[in-house]
Amino acid sequence: MIRDDLIKLNEQTGFSPELKFGQNFLSDENIISDIVDLCDIKKSDKVLEIGPGLGSLSLPLSGLTDNLTLVEIDKRLASFLGEKEGLNAKIIVSDFLKLKDYGAPGFDKIVSNLPYYVMTDIMKKLFAECVNAGKMVFMIEEDAFNRVVAKPGTKQYGPLSVLCSLYGNVVKEFTVQRSAFIPAPNTTSCVISLTKGERTLDQGLVNFLDQVFRMRRKKLLNNVKGIEDQLDLLNIDHNCRAEQLEPEALWSLYNAIIESGNKQA
Ligand code: SAM
Repeated sequence: MIRDDLIKLNEQTGFSPELKFGQNFLSDENIISDIVDLCDIKKSDKVLEIGPGLGSLSLPLSGLTDNLTLVEIDKRLASFLGEKEGLNAKIIVSDFLKLKDYGAPGFDKIVSNLPYYVMTDIMKKLFAECVNAGKMVFMIEEDAFNRVVAKPGTKQYGPLSVLCSLYGNVVKEFTVQRSAFIPAPNTTSCVISLTKGERTLDQGLVNFLDQVFRMRRKKLLNNVKGIEDQLDLLNIDHNCRAEQLEPEALWSLYNAIIESGNKQA
């Protein structure tokens, strides 16, 4: 079906997938239905999909909810989706990273076969803005999963690992072979699900983590000035670096700094 859509679109408009936008379209019906099942959509859920492409996931998703919003950077794909039979969705043509005022706090579920070149930035924006989403389901590069679940003291540990851990429960659901896409990407992919826990993340936290990991070999105190009292309060050594701290400790420190009124966090 996706192959037919691609041929049709190519004949009508000369469209061919843009590698610079990470356009690898999912064409395996079993994988598509497994991803949609994982999203566990209820009719009343407000669902956001980033990068719908040719609508592999959007079409089945739109049958499950009356509230589906799609954000697609490529206007050729957006206009193709606008005419797709049976697709009931609001379509926003935009680079998601530049998008404002899209009603972010109102979304319950987020789904994306992520464009891999901006995977981290899109996930960070979602954590910062879609603060009430109870579930997020993503296709990512399999290698990138190590960064999602990295532990303190490792090279891969950084803002993304901390945010995923603080958001809630992260599960690697299954691996997806290159042959499931047209055109095939260079690497194997995997589908992950994230289920929200008790914490509500925000933009301030994302900024704080970017700040403390910016110079990762530097002491925390050199990256964020004037936090001696908060470090003492939490029994954190003044020589400590962000990469040595567990996500919960960074969360406590962020909140202690906010409570103290320090404007740097
Ligand atoms: N969801 C479709 C699927 O599963 O077949 C397409 C997935 S494809 C890996 C990534 C999609 O994200 C493409 O349609 C691409 O045009 C779109 N995209 C890339 N960068 C984007 C951005 N910054 N904002 C919104 N969409 C983007």
